Amino acid sequence: MKKILYFDDTFDEFKDILLTHTPTGFDLIFWEELTEQEREEQLPKADYLLVATKKIGEEILSKAKKAKFIQKTGVGMDNIDLPAAVHHKLPACNTPGANSTGVAELTILLILALYRKLPLINKETKNGNWLMWELRPSSYEMEGKTHGFIGFGNIGREAAKRSKAFGTNIIYYDKFRTTSEQEQQLEAKYLPMEEVLQKSDIISLHIPLLPETKGLIGETELNLMKDNAVLINVSRGGIVQEGALYDALVEHRIAGAALDVWENEPINPENPLLTLENLIASPHIGAGTRDTLNRVLHTAFQNIKRVDEGELPQFVMNNVKKARFDESTVI
Ligand code: NAD
Repeated sequence: MKKILYFDDTFDEFKDILLTHTPTGFDLIFWEELTEQEREEQLPKADYLLVATKKIGEEILSKAKKAKFIQKTGVGMDNIDLPAAVHHKLPACNTPGANSTGVAELTILLILALYRKLPLINKETKNGNWLMWELRPSSYEMEGKTHGFIGFGNIGREAAKRSKAFGTNIIYYDKFRTTSEQEQQLEAKYLPMEEVLQKSDIISLHIPLLPETKGLIGETELNLMKDNAVLINVSRGGIVQEGALYDALVEHRIAGAALDVWENEPINPENPLLTLENLIASPHIGAGTRDTLNRVLHTAFQNIKRVDEGELPQFVMNNVKKARFDESTVI
């Protein structure tokens, strides 16, 4: 039996899903259920490392002597020390596109929830307050609004497709301009980031957390936004400076924000953003559906199976020139 070491926390129902997807001939071992001593024993024997959001650094990588590669169940690789993985000749792979639908749908959900003040309406209606008219002057529709995207990769474009169906005009900034075919399909206009911030009624973020994107949205960027604009962050915490966002929301320099991802996760319950009526909070659930989970796990285990059958891994996100399992290979 080949051993796959799974690093994240689980619970019974979730474990069942993981085990259902595990191909025959593989033994899935749950890191979180092992004692310290068992971890020391199992790590050098693991054939594959499987991880969602747990931090994977030098300490683990240096001991995983037998592992052929690291498979992430998701897209953002910021929890894996990629240079350390390169040093150990370990390819680190993700599941591109497999979670795009979940995050794209959450993007639309958050925009509509902000525009129609759903959390407030739900709370007040259940409390017996019939706000049939009161919120109309400050509630909006997506139709006719300009939706600006920062990051126009798999998730950004899937969210744009859905936003366009609601009648928005799509503008975007990405480090790399997308194809003219995709631009035409989405009627998307490529603009510098400053212009996207200035012109949008809705801004959503779909970029990875990298040294260059850390703190990208701060006071200056928030001040470029319209005072009736809403900001959606479903990418990574740390891209938006939370202190600057708090000030902008309190001073009504922007109308609202929805954060699925946070500088510190789980969020500190004392985080002042949680006190604001014009902020919607969710606990990193962009990819949090059964449907997305099935797709992501399918892709992840297929990749493991493929390598086990002697092929190269797909979706390698670190520049491993010579994988440890095949010295002649350039990935
Ligand atoms: P992707 O690689 O398909 O797209 C990312 C895009 O960002 C690319 O087009 C890239 O060119 C662009 N980009 C990179 N650096 C940039 C920069 N400095 N400035 C502007 N653009 C830049 O990835 P994706 O599948 O669209 O995912 C995007 C991000 O969403 C992931 O990196 C991840 O952090 C986040 N994510 C969040 C959740 C969630 O649960 N909330 C789930 C999945 C992914």
